[in-house]
Amino acid sequence: MGAIDKNELLAAVARAGVVGAGGAGFPTAVKLAATPEVVIVNGAECEPLLKVDQQLAELRAGELVRALETVVASLGAKSGILAFKEKYKGALAALAQEIKGKPNLSIRTLGNSYPMGDEQVLVYEVLGRVVPEGGLPLACGALVINVESLLNVFDAYHNGAPVTQKYLTVTGSVKNPATFKVPVGIAMAEVVAAAGGATVPDPVIINGGPMMGKLEESLTNPVTKITKGLIVLPRNHPRAEAKRRGLSQMMRIAKTSCCHCAYCTELCPRYLLGHNLHPDTIMRLASYGQTGEGAQRAGQVFLCCECGLCEQACVMGLQPWRLNHELKGRLGPEVARLFKKDPAPKANRFRELRGYPIPKLVQKLGLAQYDSLKAPLKDFPAKPTLLKLALKQHLGAPSQPIVSVGERVQVGQTIAETPQGATGATVHASLPGRVESIDATHITIAAD
Ligand code: SF4
Ligand code: SF4
Repeated sequence: MGAIDKNELLAAVARAGVVGAGGAGFPTAVKLAATPEVVIVNGAECEPLLKVDQQLAELRAGELVRALETVVASLGAKSGILAFKEKYKGALAALAQEIKGKPNLSIRTLGNSYPMGDEQVLVYEVLGRVVPEGGLPLACGALVINVESLLNVFDAYHNGAPVTQKYLTVTGSVKNPATFKVPVGIAMAEVVAAAGGATVPDPVIINGGPMMGKLEESLTNPVTKITKGLIVLPRNHPRAEAKRRGLSQMMRIAKTSCCHCAYCTELCPRYLLGHNLHPDTIMRLASYGQTGEGAQRAGQVFLCCECGLCEQACVMGLQPWRLNHELKGRLGPEVARLFKKDPAPKANRFRELRGYPIPKLVQKLGLAQYDSLKAPLKDFPAKPTLLKLALKQHLGAPSQPIVSVGERVQVGQTIAETPQGATGATVHASLPGRVESIDATHITIAAD
């Protein structure tokens, strides 16, 4: 592939409002401003039940490889690696076909464990390098990008198309589990209805994967650029109840039942990478009310990726990750900076023996009955009438509306922009229609 102007690529990606489609929504144009040695495509998709990236990689293998070539060339990287689980046979076969004759691109197969898709775990699995504590994969020369995000880069650069659609899996207790491409801003209720609706009388929804996803309070909430899955479960499903449990309730139980066995630490993927993260000691500190004064020790919570595996390791069903999340907010960035970080830890020598197999995880989560559901990629069968586009679907500052109530908008038209000098992502109309309302958090469009 010939020379590609990096600034042109970054401008196209920023104009299109591309953000990390598989997680927190980090603006992709900011991520691509780096100069990595290797670009890794994260095709691990390790959350049980989700089936977006593995199908997209098979269906759009040619575009994915072309997008990887584009990014590798424009960032001046030496190579690109497509990292997919060994079990995603269809995707691997299609990608192997597409990379033929491209010596700087290769495929790396991954085992079926959780959390294989965690950036730092992935970098270690692919390159054998440990990301320093509190650091980014870039510290190891790697830039990690998710499958759908990379396809959005392809659409932005090669087709000038902004992010107006989102792929997501709807599964669990629904009649026809499926993976759909839907307009950003559509109500979750409409997506569940398109999958045949819930098959249980009082359903709840997990937005995302069963491990890291959030329990949705309202089905009128819209799909955003980072919605990866909607998992419908009976209200009394153990996974729904675990997600509903509050921190104070969990800590009350922890005070009497945490036996300091340290299983949570033994299985923690970041601890196993050699990082100074010990969820058992954080639980102990919190039980004795010492988190505030023990900044040097409690600061380790900033090393936690909130993968939730500690909860599955815990014999008492406690949730150290929930405490870590709370402490990150309470301690604030000052402590994050103060916490002494080891620049070059070594992975734990027992790491290879402690991978958490997905089949075991599925059993433990009580999701075995849903695991064999296919959720094939299908056209979305309905046409939404109302779109609610969030002004903040990404990390950084909320976007600012640049349209007015009553104004007609076309599909792909920019309706909200990143504030001057801030980090963020633009928002586009995902269908043609008329702006019905604008408030502090959303622009609502009545679709034609
Ligand atoms: S959520 Fe738990 S297992 Fe995962 S990184 Fe944090 S402490 Fe470790
Ligand atoms: S695994 Fe559970 S009981 Fe054991 S130390 Fe961790 S939180 Fe406490």
